[in-house]
Amino acid sequence: MQINFSGLRALVTGAGKGIGRDTVKALHDSGAKVVAVSRTKEDLVSLSKEHPGLEPVCLDLGDWEATERALGNIGPIDLLVNNAAVLLPEPFLEVSKEAFDRTINVNLRSVIQVSQMVARGMIARGVSGSIVNVSSIVARAPVANLTSYSSTKGAMDMLTKIMALELGPHQIRVNTVNPTVVLTNMGKQVVAYPELAKSIKERTPLKKFAEVEDVVYSILFLLSDKSAMTNGLGIVVDGGYLAC
Ligand code: NAP
Repeated sequence: MQINFSGLRALVTGAGKGIGRDTVKALHDSGAKVVAVSRTKEDLVSLSKEHPGLEPVCLDLGDWEATERALGNIGPIDLLVNNAAVLLPEPFLEVSKEAFDRTINVNLRSVIQVSQMVARGMIARGVSGSIVNVSSIVARAPVANLTSYSSTKGAMDMLTKIMALELGPHQIRVNTVNPTVVLTNMGKQVVAYPELAKSIKERTPLKKFAEVEDVVYSILFLLSDKSAMTNGLGIVVDGGYLAC
């Protein structure tokens, strides 16, 4: 199955590292023009060197006004990947206002804000589009110490359905990918709890974590016309964890 994004412009958040970085590379290699949004400038500099033609945007997506300034006039976007997130583990009884606010602003509020900008542009141009929200298995199964993070991912799954409902008549599809642990910087925070890592692997029928490319391929499929009737739910990339 060939996926070709020539002639399309994509925006990926959290583009500097991990899943976002490899998504940018895959979109670029598939012919898309890519706007790469991330927080650390050095990541965007190295990414742009590797892929000439990228449009880097250095931005803290937790800052509503800065996001408005940086992306308010971003121009036509056909494909959007809401991937940026933070994971700030705390036991439920110790959840702090600061960590909760930061998590909800980056992981959820910015998804609404950036998606509004992009979807309004699609509707104004009268073009179809595809949006992928990078969620998690923890949206659907509880994991200790991840109150703030998991709550944003659970909300993201419902947000995705609402976006699919309201944007569908404009031929804009919205889906999630819900990965299990992937050993990026964020994934390494999870496996720092050895008992948790062990229990996730043991419950997974395939007895392993996901690779970055497992997630990226699902994102590309959902962005592409090959998934033209897939809308509102998306793909679980978890080796069977949620099924068992
Ligand atoms: P990662 O390696 O930590 O990379 C996250 C990227 O997002 C980084 O480039 C980071 O930039 C950027 N970012 C974070 N906060 C930002 C902000 N406020 N503004 C702009 N950019 C920001 O994480 P990952 O594992 O690739 O995660 C990508 C997505 O997959 C996330 O939505 C995550 O929840 C989801 N996911 C991950 C796993 C896993 O095990 N890895 C499992 C399920 C779902 P800085 O480093 O400069 O802050």
